[in-house]
Amino acid sequence: MSSIIEIDNIITVGDLADKLMLPVTKLIAELMKNGVMATVNERIDFDTAQIIVGELDLDVELKKKDTESSTTPRQRIIASEKATPRPPVVAVMGHVDHGKTSLLDAIRGSELTKAEAGGITQHIAAYQVEHNGRFITLLDTPGHEAFAALREHGAQLTDLVIIVVAADDGVKPQTIEAIRFARKANVRIIVAINKMDKEGADSNQVKQQLAEQKLLVEEWGGDIVALEVSAKTKKGVNELLDMILLVADVEDLRADNNVPAKGLIIESHMERGRGPVAVALIEEGTLHSGDYVVTGATYAKIRNLESTNGKTIRDAGPSTPVVITGFKSLPEFGDEFIISVDEKTARQEAKTIDIGRKSEGRSDIGNSELIRMINRHNQVSEFNVIIKTDVQGSLTSVVDSLRTLDTEEVVVRVVASGVGPVNENDVHLARSSSAIIYGFNVPVPPNIKQLAVRDRIRIRMYKVIYELIDDTKDEMSKLLVPEIIETVMGQLVVKGVFKTTKTEVICGGEVTKGKLVMPALARVIRDKQELAEVEVTNLKRGTQDTKEVFEGEMCGMSLKYSSRVDLVIGDRVELFTRETKERKL
Ligand code: GDP
Repeated sequence: MSSIIEIDNIITVGDLADKLMLPVTKLIAELMKNGVMATVNERIDFDTAQIIVGELDLDVELKKKDTESSTTPRQRIIASEKATPRPPVVAVMGHVDHGKTSLLDAIRGSELTKAEAGGITQHIAAYQVEHNGRFITLLDTPGHEAFAALREHGAQLTDLVIIVVAADDGVKPQTIEAIRFARKANVRIIVAINKMDKEGADSNQVKQQLAEQKLLVEEWGGDIVALEVSAKTKKGVNELLDMILLVADVEDLRADNNVPAKGLIIESHMERGRGPVAVALIEEGTLHSGDYVVTGATYAKIRNLESTNGKTIRDAGPSTPVVITGFKSLPEFGDEFIISVDEKTARQEAKTIDIGRKSEGRSDIGNSELIRMINRHNQVSEFNVIIKTDVQGSLTSVVDSLRTLDTEEVVVRVVASGVGPVNENDVHLARSSSAIIYGFNVPVPPNIKQLAVRDRIRIRMYKVIYELIDDTKDEMSKLLVPEIIETVMGQLVVKGVFKTTKTEVICGGEVTKGKLVMPALARVIRDKQELAEVEVTNLKRGTQDTKEVFEGEMCGMSLKYSSRVDLVIGDRVELFTRETKERKL
């Protein structure tokens, strides 16, 4: 009898080789024979693994691990007797272009400007609006995948999902996906039938289509609340907010304010001048400015606690999204945070988690999917493609292979995909989404070729999958921010300042470290603090211009700055070069 080996839906080549007790080279060779160019760390999916195992004629049977049950969402916190009502946490989902963003804007626009002067200018993963004197927390998650990803992290963070369906377009694939997610997460659904102002809006048809998905609206005897709205005219938006609060009351959402605060990191990024910044959603307890927070392998003494519209606050309670600064390194999206009694304990706790994670071999790359979804607004570049293939099977494998190429900086976005020849629609879509069309074993009719040339749309044809993958990697590499390499050459200690103008300062001093070579940039440092970055425009040994001065020598130097620096004796000037280097995936 063959032995059964359980693996995850996605597994690295190395791990699979381990499980099969095979040399990894043998596995790689077999993958190559099947047209899959993979290295040890490459991730392959279950189906590929199964094919390879079949080809290898091993006496094993692969079985997919039941991830559903192994990642059952963490139970929502059961509130104690002392718990008080908390705001509902709401996510908005739906098919692309059905009006999620517009609806969120309509809610935020009308409510927030009333509640908070100034409003929000910048995108943030979550925020609160006030309605009838009560708060509602809205998650502005970029899509279903983010929601699913949070769930995979064991997070049950949403109380309610609003599924937006355009009344003139009806239930579409992503609507169905959203319904599936909401069901899986066991959260309440409210349907917002949007674009009711449009001609052709047909809410009955939407309700019919919802019924086909087993979502029966109240007036048809079901228990799903469906509201007609228009994000454009704001009609129905107030009723939607009323309904959210009503559902919150029915669900009796409560949390304890008087327990140590805990919650989840729902966004994190580096900010110039502020360092690591995290957006966290508090689940229970009250978080105070100055608290010690531990999350994953990092910790913070909260330097500044802010609401997500940028106001400094002293404390925040359950279901409130907050912005936290003061972390030692970037917190990870989806990680839980807890508070700690003091700095020493916080540091120790973070260290323990760090060691634990390293021994688990956990890598940040594994989270690329999460990071990709949530960091959409953190300048992740997207490479847009439209994929056409001859058969469904190759479509699936092309799309799956492209998925594995995502990194934290650049991701592949499959704008559209389908089986059949490249057609006019594909070209139009490519134009509006700045995408490249990749055809795999499909023809391009001559008239479509002409159209593409006219519209300057790139169509590329492939017969071998790894050529498609290689080209994708090249295209994605072009989107990477080039690497900046700074090399410190040497340092001068200022012994005299001769002349200061609006744009320039001329000084003299001794080279105490390394050597100074022109051309160069420099940092002016005083008491370990960097004051300014300047450009070195001239270097003199004695009265002679020179290109090089060595350690121990005295020299004169002209520095050009964009904002005036008043050099004083004792300042240090550190010379460095900065190069940019193209990167490749
Ligand atoms: P999302 O992809 O679901 O976030 O959709 P958007 O909010 O970006 O909306 C897609 C398009 O539909 C935009 O051009 C919106 O202006 C438009 N739209 C959204 N809501 C409405 C609405 O209620 N009425 C009308 N007429 N247009 C809407």
